[in-house]
Amino acid sequence: MANEFDLQRLVRPNIWALTPYSCARDEFKGRAARVFLDANESPYNPTINRYPDPLQEKVKARLAPLKGVASEHIFLGNGSDEAIDLVYRIFCRPGVDNVVAIEPTYGMYRVCADINDVQYRPVLLDEHFQPSADRLLAATDENTKVIWLCSPNNPTGNDLLREEVQRVILGFRGIVVVDEAYSDFSDQPPLRFYVDRCPNLIVLNTLSKAWASAGARLGIAYASKEIITLFNKVKYPYNVNSLSQEYALNLLSEPLKVERWVAQIRQERAHLLPALSELPICLKLYPTAANFVLMRVTDADRLYRYLVDRGVVVRNRNRVQLCAGCLRITIGTPQENNELLGALRQFKP
Ligand SMILES: *Cc1c(COP(=O)(O)O)cnc(C)c1O
Repeated sequence: MANEFDLQRLVRPNIWALTPYSCARDEFKGRAARVFLDANESPYNPTINRYPDPLQEKVKARLAPLKGVASEHIFLGNGSDEAIDLVYRIFCRPGVDNVVAIEPTYGMYRVCADINDVQYRPVLLDEHFQPSADRLLAATDENTKVIWLCSPNNPTGNDLLREEVQRVILGFRGIVVVDEAYSDFSDQPPLRFYVDRCPNLIVLNTLSKAWASAGARLGIAYASKEIITLFNKVKYPYNVNSLSQEYALNLLSEPLKVERWVAQIRQERAHLLPALSELPICLKLYPTAANFVLMRVTDADRLYRYLVDRGVVVRNRNRVQLCAGCLRITIGTPQENNELLGALRQFKP
């Protein structure tokens, strides 16, 4: 597999040939300088007057041991949404190439395909929301550059069967992206440890969910050094601002705090699920490995509007394939979850 894999064949020729923008801080590296007159910055208003580190070396140095992945296998972006868009811009020729994805899943894979004029080929999950590697591979052709997987999947909440995911990674000669935005809430071991052995694997992570920092806009991609180099070539030079980098450095120095948040959410999930399943409006509660749960109810649209009127917002997934009649509910604090349960118990069908 490693021998057969030809990265250059997959990359858009213009991207392969690209000379990236060289910023002032790229040219100056390492030597002890005291006077910075190279970037037309203002000398006033420290320290935000300076451009941020384009490669976020300090953040990556702190992230690497926490995640068990070396810095050179890590890309940091303005949310995982940046990494998703970069995958299209690096690999997919507009109007020519296509991607295959599980369906239903996270909506950004399709939006970015549409923006980049790349054909999007959804392959329906089965009734347990599981993929079939054979069916995903059968949907590919010689212009398929990427297969999108998401585990635990959004909006369904379940872990994808690891055996099928492995068969896709091993059986496809293009790029396989596994979005693990919710993996901290799951018992399944994460796939990021395999990026140095699987040259076609990209694993996505984010600080937006378990790390409780959606407002900081920090997404992570793990991949081979060669793919990370391509990400760095194509991204905006200063894609993660100094405030977010500073913030991330502080957050990453308190991993135990994050572990406590995750443990609390998992515990609260264990309390909330049985209470939801006993409600008369609950037709089916799907198994979840994430910080949300998909629930099929008697009248999703009415229940959604009822909850909004009570000041409780959930996600109405009624119009999503395989999710007819379903609401997606995020696990909140015990108080928030009690408010939800109270409102649901008072609902008159
Ligand atoms: C929430 C979510 C993300 C996070 O995106 P960010 O841009 O990092 O906030 C990524 N993937 C999935 C599947 C998600 O549900």
